[in-house]
Amino acid sequence: MIFDLKKKEDKKIFRIYKKAYKNLKKFYEFKEDININVFVINNRDCINALRMKKTPKWVIGFSNPKINTIFILDRKKFSKESEHKYSKAKYERLITHEMSHIFFYRLMNDLKSPAWFSEGVALYTDGNTKVMERPKKFENFLKFYKPGSGMFKESGFVIELLIKRFGKKKLLGMIKKTKGVKNKKQFEKLFKKIYGFNLNCKNINKLLDK
Ligand SMILES: [Zn+2]
Repeated sequence: MIFDLKKKEDKKIFRIYKKAYKNLKKFYEFKEDININVFVINNRDCINALRMKKTPKWVIGFSNPKINTIFILDRKKFSKESEHKYSKAKYERLITHEMSHIFFYRLMNDLKSPAWFSEGVALYTDGNTKVMERPKKFENFLKFYKPGSGMFKESGFVIELLIKRFGKKKLLGMIKKTKGVKNKKQFEKLFKKIYGFNLNCKNINKLLDK
């Protein structure tokens, strides 16, 4: 596939980028700096070509941690090329979200994570847990070891709860140790070692009442 690339000045994106970078560097406790490239895409066709598949209309961004690059739909194309209505706050969350994935995988030093886990951390750090509908009980996040629609619903709130009950350091440790984890079983074993209880909805729900 061939793409036409141009360097672009965009004060709005740069402002969001700087703020997100500062907050994420602090959250992930990064000492060194990383250079993240932002690619602005202006249509669905181009998103599909980059993803090498037909993407649903809710997809407005993605990241490639291998090359420290995030891809976001042009804000002027939201109504035409996606099912989202543009707002400044949403764009900020989108950019922060994709950048968070870069930090996450850099911290892990690997590219494999349960989908709910990496999405949960991204949703927590991008501010989505402050605006999304809060589930009363956790029921299905563990179904999303692999990505799927519905993986965003509970995952950010699970991460929020883990941080609230056990602190951020433990979570960062969990992310780092996920390096090399190959499957659900191994991840559950690691989770138990770090958090001291079996990873299931019942136990996570119990944390709500504490
Ligand atoms: Zn994501």
